[in-house]
Amino acid sequence: MKARKCFWSAAAACVVLLGALVCCCSCDRPLPSPNTPVPVYDLDITYDGENTLLLREELLFTNRTGGSLSTLSLHLYANAYAEGGVCCLPEEREDVYYNGESFGGIEVYNVEIDGSGAESEIKADGGILSVACRLDEGDTATLTLNARITLPECNARFGVTQSGTVNLTAFYPVLCAHRNGEWREDAYAPVGDPFLSDISSFYVTLDAPAEYVAAASGEVTSSSLRGTERHTEITAENVRDFALFLSPEFEVYVTSAQADGKDVRVAYYHTGDGDAARTARLAADALEFFSSEFGAYPYPSFTLVTTEVGAGGMEYGALAAVDPSVTDEQERAITVVHETAHQWWFGVVGSDQFNDPWQDEGLTEFSAIFYFLSHGDEEVYRSSVASAKACLASYLALPTEIGFDPNLRRHLSTYVSVGEYVAVTYCKGLLLFDALYALVGDDGMREALTVYFSENAFSVADAEDIISAFTAVHSGAAAVFGEYLC
Ligand SMILES: [Zn+2]
Repeated sequence: MKARKCFWSAAAACVVLLGALVCCCSCDRPLPSPNTPVPVYDLDITYDGENTLLLREELLFTNRTGGSLSTLSLHLYANAYAEGGVCCLPEEREDVYYNGESFGGIEVYNVEIDGSGAESEIKADGGILSVACRLDEGDTATLTLNARITLPECNARFGVTQSGTVNLTAFYPVLCAHRNGEWREDAYAPVGDPFLSDISSFYVTLDAPAEYVAAASGEVTSSSLRGTERHTEITAENVRDFALFLSPEFEVYVTSAQADGKDVRVAYYHTGDGDAARTARLAADALEFFSSEFGAYPYPSFTLVTTEVGAGGMEYGALAAVDPSVTDEQERAITVVHETAHQWWFGVVGSDQFNDPWQDEGLTEFSAIFYFLSHGDEEVYRSSVASAKACLASYLALPTEIGFDPNLRRHLSTYVSVGEYVAVTYCKGLLLFDALYALVGDDGMREALTVYFSENAFSVADAEDIISAFTAVHSGAAAVFGEYLC
């Protein structure tokens, strides 16, 4: 996510971050294959052109948890948008609900495992679907279900936006990550990115009124008219999650990027960006730069979408969204590069966004300003670091009774405002990587991040993984992490 500039202040004003640096190595370390078999989702989606989505989901899952399982747990993120849900903070509601309060959610039925009815339970205030099963290590099962999804009218990650774009992210039941012998059922939080999932493959069909143009993770493999509807088939393999945006107003500008000698299709969906070619080229340049610096972008395509997401931007598997409210030219450029960098830090290399949100956001902030620095814009780097210092300092100066906690490893649920989340995760997170850069230099940064990327590709990295990547380059890195991770 890229926080909107206006959210960066709570008690004091903070400005934007940016950055950059020099280098041109070729990162030819091969990426590991994803742990196979990855979960496979078949999603058959029917959109009625208004506020209802019908979903048939088939999830093929192989138990590689290291033990037997008696339940499968899936997130029902859409229920965060139900009445009483926690999709946003009270102070955000006026911006989010452009047409008055509007609620959505997901209703699940016909839950089966391997073709037989399965006992299921909705728990955690509607946020978790728990399905009974008996799976030993190595066993494979197919979970099928039907769902009726109601879309709220709101400017957020899920719903019909003010512009009429249908934002479909985290709309399907998402298998929880399984760690340390249990399902990670972390509740949705109104601050930050409350998502954690393993790399999966998606095979999607979409039936929607023909006037809707679809922008999605992955590749469209088939598109045909069926009466007044358009039938679209989409494949997105080995991605962190699947996102889909629909609008009758979408225009698309297509360009390409080179990643390790392969052509990546870059498609930019927008609604009247007068400089669409420039925006798309920026995303393609960023893809090429990060491929050269950290390791090749592994997917055949990258999709960029302009839509209201309730933040400056938001990242998804092989796709990024940028909010149209980001109109300042430089801030928008930084947001595009930031969201593109998330393909490396979130997309291919996942991390625990509940307990260690700095691990992708701090590194993504650094990666974005590193892009600008290496393209000769030293001012973006310098001013971004200065702004981050000022932002963090303003929070540290708050009266102690307010209880600001600057610990980078705070759980997402402990944040009560976007401002303090930004101060800690983005500002202090960026300062951590700026301090590491000062310690290890251009070559050291490139080496550490190349190793971190290649050794953790298609998995969820722990904090220790990035610490070890840097300490292998410079023993002093341990002290820098020690100073900041508190
Ligand atoms: Zn971000």
